[in-house]
Amino acid sequence: MKTTPLTPSSNLSRRDALKTLGASAAFLGIGLFSARSFAAAQRASARKTTTAGLIDGQYPFALPPLGYDYAALEPHIDARTMEIHHTKHHQAYITNANKALESVPALQALALGEMLQNLDSAPEALRAVLRNNIGGHANHAFFWQIIAPRVGKMADAAPSGALLRAIETTFGSLDAFKTQFADAAMKRFGSGWAWLVIAPESGKLSILSTANQDSPLLSHAVPLLGLDVWEHAYYLKYQNRRAEYVSAFWEIANWSRATSIHASVLDT
Ligand code: MN
Repeated sequence: MKTTPLTPSSNLSRRDALKTLGASAAFLGIGLFSARSFAAAQRASARKTTTAGLIDGQYPFALPPLGYDYAALEPHIDARTMEIHHTKHHQAYITNANKALESVPALQALALGEMLQNLDSAPEALRAVLRNNIGGHANHAFFWQIIAPRVGKMADAAPSGALLRAIETTFGSLDAFKTQFADAAMKRFGSGWAWLVIAPESGKLSILSTANQDSPLLSHAVPLLGLDVWEHAYYLKYQNRRAEYVSAFWEIANWSRATSIHASVLDT
């Protein structure tokens, strides 16, 4: 596995820095601060803990609550899988990331996305463990937001507004997008993720898949949807039937959240 960051960002321009900070905030769903004020962005970046209480995007990381019960996604994802995934797998990424970051003060004050974009400031021997575990925390913190039960106003069953228009323009139709996203999820060999991402600079949407716990933030893309296709995410219920799990994703995808992240990235 490569251990070098895809895009070194030590020479970030002010505009790039704003984009990165704003995008990271949107990605994490914390603060959602307007990145128009660089001073405000710097303050937010320096903040050690979030006050939103939803997701802790700053070192030391803590396990964020799901916002719904482990059984809330039944029958699409079973309660036992959710509980193990959250309390064991996600917690392990957090524990290991915090441990590795103990000896890398240069990264400790950065927001989660910035850490991933500045792995080259860590000792080379630690870069892989940081990439895997900070990435694992970022990916799962996002995942819990982007799946949600379709009860009340918690999650829309389809994208709306600018995101819907962008999907139709980019992929032809919502159904065509779903087919291509599922294809990316199915073709990811071994463990990894499928993503719908937006490039903050151009606003362009694309589908990608990443191996292991690589985050789209490594390449400065902001995820709008993400699907964990590690076997630990579906094996208890679906065993080897990944296609059924991928198909079930559309029953729990939180399009309200994706639509609002999309809007906040465009607004940054
Ligand atoms: Mn997982």
